[in-house]
Amino acid sequence: MNVNLEQRIKDSVRNVPDFPKKGIQFKDITTLLMNPELCNAVLEEMVVQVKHSGVTKVVGVESRGFLFGQALAMRLGLPFVMVRKAGKLPYKKITNTYALEYGEATIEMHKDAINPNDRVIVHDDLLATGGTAKAAAELVGSTGADVVGYLFLIHLSYLNGQDELGTMNENIIKLATY
Ligand code: AMP
Repeated sequence: MNVNLEQRIKDSVRNVPDFPKKGIQFKDITTLLMNPELCNAVLEEMVVQVKHSGVTKVVGVESRGFLFGQALAMRLGLPFVMVRKAGKLPYKKITNTYALEYGEATIEMHKDAINPNDRVIVHDDLLATGGTAKAAAELVGSTGADVVGYLFLIHLSYLNGQDELGTMNENIIKLATY
């Protein structure tokens, strides 16, 4: 854990209370994205944390998982794969539906994006309850590929997402934990 970088991330992310509903402390990364020097430092740390895992593809979860996910894949010289919300991808897809606090959500990935030999890192901007990242990992797993780990910019430890994900893979990298 890079303590200095963690503090810089926390100083840069804006906390918005009661968004999108009462009781939620929303971590707004738009303020961090306006600091290119810090974004570069974040990316460098992600490269260091991921590069020895034998990863062959980076999967990013819509939509904030696309921001650093695609940049990371480029730095590593690896393909980037989008996991999108239902109805957005144009080609043949595989689908996973998972439970939310109220109701359910569906995510999709192109059928030919991942093959059984791939070793995949699943990235999103933030780990809360872990439902989204777990669903993305299940989607990847259904192709026969290995999920070698998860990568998050921010981790809300009080929501116990690590326990949810740990059942599938214990390699959970996060740069700033609240
Ligand atoms: P979860 O499935 O509960 O781990 O939620 C993760 C997804 O919801 C991520 O894509 C986050 O971007 C978003 N999210 C959940 N909680 C927050 C929060 N407090 N602040 C910002 N984004 C959040």
